[in-house]
Amino acid sequence: MKCPYCGGEMEQGVIQSPHEICWKHEKAFLGNAEFNEDAVILSELSMLRGSAAEAFRCRACEKIVIDYKNGDCDMNRRAGLSSDFAVVRKMFRKRS
Ligand SMILES: [Zn+2]
Repeated sequence: MKCPYCGGEMEQGVIQSPHEICWKHEKAFLGNAEFNEDAVILSELSMLRGSAAEAFRCRACEKIVIDYKNGDCDMNRRAGLSSDFAVVRKMFRKRS
């Protein structure tokens, strides 16, 4: 991937967490996506493997870019791991 800031080649890598990884407009007391309607899930949590989102780094600009189109950055989804939390989230949103 080419860096959108300088046009240089970016390094492929991963952002890994023992928790779900999601983007929100602001920090929230309850940070999980099920409590934030506007959240963009970058990686669902897998109880066995944690979560991981593919990310690209530009050393020159010190920027990290995540392409989340179609949820393709979610390494768990790529590995075919369905998340228990995705099921819980759907149930929670149907009730509210
Ligand atoms: Zn750059």
